[in-house]
Amino acid sequence: MPRRRRRRRIFLPPKVRGFSTYGFDTEESAILFLDEFEAIKLLDYENLNQVKVAAIMNISRPTLTRIYDRARKKIALALVEGKNIEIRGGDVYTEEHWHYCSNCDIVFNTHDMNVNCPFCKSDVNVRSMNDYIADFKSPAQERTIIRKGI
Ligand SMILES: [Zn+2]
Repeated sequence: MPRRRRRRRIFLPPKVRGFSTYGFDTEESAILFLDEFEAIKLLDYENLNQVKVAAIMNISRPTLTRIYDRARKKIALALVEGKNIEIRGGDVYTEEHWHYCSNCDIVFNTHDMNVNCPFCKSDVNVRSMNDYIADFKSPAQERTIIRKGI
């Protein structure tokens, strides 16, 4: 019986939806899932160790190692073969009551019904993190095709 996949916790989606090649036009993209982006960010950008990152993402360390390995292979493939990188999809979730202000580029936690950013006081630039992350998710059918790729 296949083991049930555990969803991965992420805190902040990427600022961009992806990257395109420079000096070389292509329609082909490597698809980096949100959990793979988060692993790269926490391990390589924030320099956290694997034990800590696995705890943050609420997954086992071997699972994190597999996610990280896949992410690096996809990025390497894009760099070497000249492909765009699209960041989307993946079985991810974020904490309830977390909100993102696109004006201040911050995440904050509130249980208030009327959500205003604690810094700029805006309510128009604020979205729940789960809504924000949903924009990055791709349809299930598309995910299946992509998973066969790498
Ligand atoms: Zn704000």
